Amino acid sequence: MRKPIIAGNWKMNKTIAEALDFAKQLEGSALSPDVDAVICAPYLSLQSLVEVLRPSAIKVGAQNLHFEDAGAFTGEVSAQMLREIGVDYVIIGHSERRQYFGETDETVNKKLIKALASELIPILCVGESLEERETGKTNDIIEGQIKKGLQNISAEEIERVVIAYEPIWAIGTGKTATSEQANEVCVFIRKILAELFGTTASERVRIQYGGSVKPSNIKEIMEQSDIDGALVGGASLIAEDYLQLVNY
Ligand code: 13P
Repeated sequence: MRKPIIAGNWKMNKTIAEALDFAKQLEGSALSPDVDAVICAPYLSLQSLVEVLRPSAIKVGAQNLHFEDAGAFTGEVSAQMLREIGVDYVIIGHSERRQYFGETDETVNKKLIKALASELIPILCVGESLEERETGKTNDIIEGQIKKGLQNISAEEIERVVIAYEPIWAIGTGKTATSEQANEVCVFIRKILAELFGTTASERVRIQYGGSVKPSNIKEIMEQSDIDGALVGGASLIAEDYLQLVNY
């Protein structure tokens, strides 16, 4: 049985004060013990969030990391730095990083390997553009991203990886993929995982859907056979909505 995982991706939103205010609003709220709840915040807020959320079951994640341990990489943050402050998760290869910051399947793979070696749980993002979907290339794109992103990962390690299927055309657009469309790709991802790592391991990997998920559509999405969670942008910025999402 795969434990559902709902993660907020705050992207470049919220100052430390705003992050703390969000955490305060969650204080004392009941969280479902059957769901892993995560908030992926900007680097600067991570340490404060880890501290204030410690009494709760909510775990904290970063939105990126560098694949080297240390060195002349101006502006970057290492896995060890994230572990030191108690971060548990890290998003890798979000489409915005691929699109605006030159992230490639090769850097994604290196980051994934570093995250796993550092006991961080990676959330590996994959997804096709609107043009790719409309020209029938969705499966090819997803297969390439999965195979290249997961090179040199073992069957034992893959079980610790969370995969997020985020069609680019559904991100921040209000256009959600239908739950059937989303599930179809998640089934396809699991099929590739089975080819790469065997059926047992593939059945244990959690696959999230991301793209305009909100309290009003989360239930339907989570009812799908191969969707085990959601990676939520906009709606995760509002404490009340976040709570509804994790308690779907
Ligand atoms: P939205 O939920 O705002 O569409 O963003 C999705 C996303 O990119 C999460 O990583």
